[in-house]
Amino acid sequence: MDKRIPVRTCIGCNNEFPKKDLFRFVRKTDEAGMTDSIIIDTSGALHGRGCYLCRNTDCLEKALKKRSFERTFKDPVPERIKEDIREEFKRLTQE
Ligand SMILES: [Zn+2]
Repeated sequence: MDKRIPVRTCIGCNNEFPKKDLFRFVRKTDEAGMTDSIIIDTSGALHGRGCYLCRNTDCLEKALKKRSFERTFKDPVPERIKEDIREEFKRLTQE
């Protein structure tokens, strides 16, 4: 692979892909520093700890099952946030 292309590891399948082919997830915290939401950074401009995922539902489900988001953000991820991630993912992959 061309070394000039930035690659990132998908937290679902653990394979490396060009950064531009992956979704970047960023965590938003509330005032107490708890996970408020995990959003897909489509602009690439959001700050904070992030992780990358292939644009397919298999990798998303793998990541959710393996608790990869918990590991990345070092915090529990409530079920309602996981549902939000699924919704957002679905919306973006169907466009
Ligand atoms: Zn993947």
